[in-house]
Amino acid sequence: MYAAVFIYDTTLRDGAQAEGISFSLEDKIRIAQRLDAIGVPFIEGGWPGSNAKDVEFFRRIQTIPLKQAQVAAFGATRRAGIACDADSQVALLLAAETPVVAIVGKSWDLHVHHVLETTLAENLAMVADTVRYLKAHGRQVFYDAEHFFDGYKANPSYALECAAAAQEAGADVVVLCDTNGGTMPWEIEEIVRKTRMHLTEQPGASALGIHTHDDAGMAAANALAAVRAGCIQVQGTLNGIGERVGNCNLCTVIPNLQLKLGVRCLEDEQLRRLTELSRFASETANLAPNPRVPYVGASAFAHKGGIHVSAVMKVEHSYQHIDPTLVGNERRVLISELSGRGNLLYKAQQFGVDASKEEARQVLAQVKEQESRGFYYEGAEASVALMLHRLKPGYRRPFELIDFMVVVEHRQGRGIFAEASVKVKVGAEVMHTAAEGNGPVNALDQALRKALIPHYPRLADVHLADFKVRILDGESATAATTRVIITTQNGHRDWSTVGSSPNIIESSWQSLVDSMEYALLPEA
Ligand SMILES: [Zn+2]
Repeated sequence: MYAAVFIYDTTLRDGAQAEGISFSLEDKIRIAQRLDAIGVPFIEGGWPGSNAKDVEFFRRIQTIPLKQAQVAAFGATRRAGIACDADSQVALLLAAETPVVAIVGKSWDLHVHHVLETTLAENLAMVADTVRYLKAHGRQVFYDAEHFFDGYKANPSYALECAAAAQEAGADVVVLCDTNGGTMPWEIEEIVRKTRMHLTEQPGASALGIHTHDDAGMAAANALAAVRAGCIQVQGTLNGIGERVGNCNLCTVIPNLQLKLGVRCLEDEQLRRLTELSRFASETANLAPNPRVPYVGASAFAHKGGIHVSAVMKVEHSYQHIDPTLVGNERRVLISELSGRGNLLYKAQQFGVDASKEEARQVLAQVKEQESRGFYYEGAEASVALMLHRLKPGYRRPFELIDFMVVVEHRQGRGIFAEASVKVKVGAEVMHTAAEGNGPVNALDQALRKALIPHYPRLADVHLADFKVRILDGESATAATTRVIITTQNGHRDWSTVGSSPNIIESSWQSLVDSMEYALLPEA
């Protein structure tokens, strides 16, 4: 095992192949910049042979100064039966003008016979020729041995011959791929070890890399197993997005490498930005961040049971496997009907409110009373923080609602639209504003912002990130209660607030008002 490994990110290529993901060129550039900033040394930008957007990406990225990362273009070995300089796909790889080129080739005899429909000897020649050709053009060449583990299990000597052919032709890294994602960690460790032994006896000196997929839920475990067996490059994607169920999740494997295996891949300071990077990648992919992912999920260090909470308050690591701040995450204590006063006191501390036991008791009673009316604070801690603040004698609400009105209309040629007007008091001044929106909540949000931004310019950076509506079967059969949870962001943090009422507009409004009030707290 090496003391340090290189991370190779393929979010922009393998990740972009995931169902439901579509990155614009701008998205790709922004993700590349963030990966560079956090210290990922290799960024695979795309496959110039597969689409015009990727060709354009490689043109644009040359004009963008990166601090340290090297960009890689991805492609395949030359086609069967033609020379490299006659293969247009190989020509596009050179035209991308990247310092690194990654090429994928076959290692599994089944694929050579039945997918490529060529001979085993020609496939070896395709691997060797393409590596040699790209090396001759001054590129660092990473050779992706597709289906290496399945190929090894079917025909070990042929899989090894393919890897050796790439090594002998001068590949800088031979990347062993578990393309179908079905290999187990102990198999990976054994096969990597045997491959390494074999390659050290052959001409050339390639390093080994690992590329895993998560079809058996083993992608990160398999990458770790490969590192233990001598791989020095680990490939994966942000949040594990990728074909089928996805790739090795870099947000899981990086902390595991660094904190569990003691293998360095990022600086400590950079590791602390991992949670932020994960959320940025989710937002850019237009996916709600998954709370239940290791290390970087919002629930990764969330404590709900009263016993857990009181233990964590006494000894921080009693219910946590690491200090969450190492990866830029935070411990959260969830507030709900199950909570004890300890949860609330803890929460108060975290929100920087100096709450007495009596205040905690009052807020807890309020939480329990509100929850019986359909509020739910577990996903909406910002609303609880506000309750604590509002109990403080010096606290003044930043604005007060006087009236609001919403009209939803359908008009010929225009379709549905909504208009809201809001009257709020800010200090001594009464602001009366109106705005349109694509729906009633959007219109209310716009009108409220219009009223508040002149007094509180920092609200301009605040935007709604998520809006969840749940219809609750209330005790009364006639009126169902509607709960609305709004998640709001201001670029570097997010928070959630809740409203509940038989009327969806009222519950949305309550949640919206809390979200703005929270944004204006000094801590926010
Ligand atoms: Zn892959």
